[in-house]
Amino acid sequence: MMKVLVINCGSSSLKYQLIDSQTEEVLAKGLCERIGIDGSKLTHKPTGKEDYVVESPMKDHQIAVKLVLDALTDKDHGVITDIKEISAVGHRVLHAGQVYSDSIVVNEDVKRVIRECFDLGPLHNPANLIGIEACEAAMPGVPQVAVFDTAFGQSMPKKAYLYAIPYEYYEKYGIRRYGFHGTSHSFVSKETIKFANLNPENCKVIVCHLGNGASISASIGGKCVDTSMGLTPLEGLIMGTRSGDVDPAVVQYICNKENKTVDEVLNILNKKSGVLGISGVSSDFRDVTKAENEGNERAKAANEAFIYRVIKYIGAYVAAMNGVDAIAFTAGVGENDVNAREKILSGLTYLGIEVDHEANKKRGENTMISTPASKVKVCVIPTNEELAIARETVALV
Ligand code: AMP
Repeated sequence: MMKVLVINCGSSSLKYQLIDSQTEEVLAKGLCERIGIDGSKLTHKPTGKEDYVVESPMKDHQIAVKLVLDALTDKDHGVITDIKEISAVGHRVLHAGQVYSDSIVVNEDVKRVIRECFDLGPLHNPANLIGIEACEAAMPGVPQVAVFDTAFGQSMPKKAYLYAIPYEYYEKYGIRRYGFHGTSHSFVSKETIKFANLNPENCKVIVCHLGNGASISASIGGKCVDTSMGLTPLEGLIMGTRSGDVDPAVVQYICNKENKTVDEVLNILNKKSGVLGISGVSSDFRDVTKAENEGNERAKAANEAFIYRVIKYIGAYVAAMNGVDAIAFTAGVGENDVNAREKILSGLTYLGIEVDHEANKKRGENTMISTPASKVKVCVIPTNEELAIARETVALV
């Protein structure tokens, strides 16, 4: 029996799950918050036992990893007796540039590539590397696997990933579209192929990952042919706090009018825009919808703009693939927001989509929400990035 530890490091956080690879059960999961700042805290959730909270200073990720391993082996709150029971560690890593299109067992070369991509993922890649090195130090000899968020997008054809800017910027700096949420898009597209019984060789699938971060992918035979995020996760759909597509001249205009730097405006586009920016209410879609239902016009505008852009992208991807066999919804909004799905699908009747409105009320499990007569299958497929990382890890070690 193989137990895999899945690690997702952010700049000041570390999320983990210990997964039994045979049963695919989660044995424990948890979160370290405020690493490197005051008030660090570990919340450990062993399955079938009570939550266990450790409030202890975590000066860096190395200490966080040690506390996680202590919690996993704790005699009261733990789920294993010895860290030797962990056979491998799978790490979510943001960016591998154009180097890796698959997950890979970490060695010195892999770490070098992750380091070389710091510029492309300045918030995530350094944290991801620290997480890998902390696990190597705490569990010497245990294989570490890097699972890249950009891997799925690497199969995009050149016409989809090139920006129409001087080619030398692509050649010199790798400025192109990469796409993100790759682990989720890959997992959900595979699940969709199985669940909707599609031809794995040539089926055309659109996955709508609609959460706080949101992106859409188009894939043929399980290979990504286009996806909405770009050089960074800012491009594409309207998100919780991210603007998605804007005319780049908007940046210059705000800089001039508000006397701000490019970095400041980029920060605004990343953190203060999206449905938060339009509504002024919240980045959380539930709050925005609540405000809309109470008559808030800006909240209504935010939701309508969000839905409109999803419909537009689906249309673009149907065109890009010259057809579509199935559309899948996933992530916080995609899995749970019955009304958002209804609104999106009501803009796609031209595709011959017929919604099963009863089935669409279900949540949290793989569900076909189109009728048998529908020309395109539509389903809800809960994403599970941790399980996807654990599966990739097991496959490699
Ligand atoms: P994620 O980033 O995938 O965790 O998704 C988070 C987003 O999903 C938040 O904006 C939530 O408001 C939204 N969400 C979660 N549950 C629901 C729900 N039942 N209805 C509408 N939105 C939801």
